[in-house]
Amino acid sequence: AKAKGRNTFHFYSQELNAAANERLFIENELRTGIREGQFRVYYQPQVDCRNNQVVGYEALIRWFHPNEGMIPPTKFIPIAEATGLIVELGAWILQEACEFAARLASQDLKNNISINLSARQFKDANLVSTLDKIIKQTGVEPKRLHLELTESMLMGHVEAAILQLHQLKALGVSISIDDFGTGYSSLSYLKRFPVDILKVDRSFVKDIPQDSNDMEITAAIIAMAQKLKLNVVAEGVETIEQIEFLQNNNCYIVQGYYYSKPIPEDELPALYEQLNSL
Ligand code: C2E
Ligand code: CA
Ligand code: CA
Ligand code: CA
Repeated sequence: AKAKGRNTFHFYSQELNAAANERLFIENELRTGIREGQFRVYYQPQVDCRNNQVVGYEALIRWFHPNEGMIPPTKFIPIAEATGLIVELGAWILQEACEFAARLASQDLKNNISINLSARQFKDANLVSTLDKIIKQTGVEPKRLHLELTESMLMGHVEAAILQLHQLKALGVSISIDDFGTGYSSLSYLKRFPVDILKVDRSFVKDIPQDSNDMEITAAIIAMAQKLKLNVVAEGVETIEQIEFLQNNNCYIVQGYYYSKPIPEDELPALYEQLNSL
C-alpha cells in the first residue's frame, strides 16, 4: 500500500509539474509572442437566418506560434489573464477589431463587431479611456461595437460592475452577456445591469433537437429576453434543424459552424459567395 501511495504521489507530482511547466512556457512565450506580433484576430459571422445576411462578427484571437503551431485561446487566455498580460493583449485586440470595423464601414457594410472582454480587462481602471482613444483614432461608430462579458464577471462587485458598464455605455457601445445560462444569475438579477444582448450558450444549442430539456431552456431564455427587451444571439449553431428551431422561437441572429468558422479578414469574399449560394 505504501509503495502504491508513493507511486500515486509520484504520478500526481509529475502531472502537476508538467502543468506548471506548460504554464510557465506559455507565460514566457506570450511575452515574446506579443512583442513579435504572433497573434491574429479571426472573425466569425453572426447571420440573420431569415435572409442569410451577415449582421456582425465576433472577434476571436488566434496565436500562431513559430514552433508550436496554432495555440487555442482556451489554452492561453487564462494564463494571459492570471499574469495580467491580457490587459496589453486585450488592448491590441480592441485596436484590431475597431480597425476591422472601420474598414467594413468604409465599404458601407453596417456590421456589428463583438469583442470578448476578460475579467481582468473589465476591472481595469483604464479600460474606458483606452477604448475611447481607440474609437476616436479609428473613427469607428461606437454603436457598432458590442462588448461581450460573462455573468461571473458581473457577480463579484456588483456596484463597481454597474458603474463600469455605465461608463462603457456612455461611449455609445453595447453590452452583450456571453455564455448566457451557464452562470448563476437569473434574468431578473441581470436586469440590474445595463445590458443589451444575450448570447445563448452553445451547451443549450448543441443537442437541439434531440434534447427536449435543452429546447425548453433555449425557448425560455429567448422568450424572457424578449420580455426584458434584450436582443438574443444563439451561438454554436451547426445544423439546419437548430436554425429552424431558433427561428420558430423568434431568435433570428445565429452564429456557428453552420454558416462559418471564425475566419481571417481575407476570407470574407469567399464567405459572401458561400452565403449568396444558400
Ligand atoms: P466564446 O467567447 O464563447 O467563443 C465562442 C467559441 O466557440 C469560439 O472558440 C468559437 O470558435 C467556437 N464556436 C463558434 N461556433 C461554433 C460551433 O458551431 N461549434 C463549435 N463546436 N464551436 C463553435 P475559440 O475561438 O476557440 O474561443 C474559445 C474561448 O476563448 C472564447 O469562448 C472566449 O472565452 C476566449 N476567447 C477567444 N478570443 C478571445 C479574445 O479575443 N479575448 C478574450 N478575452 N477571450 C477570447
Ligand atoms: Ca464570446
Ligand atoms: Ca460564448
Ligand atoms: Ca464559451
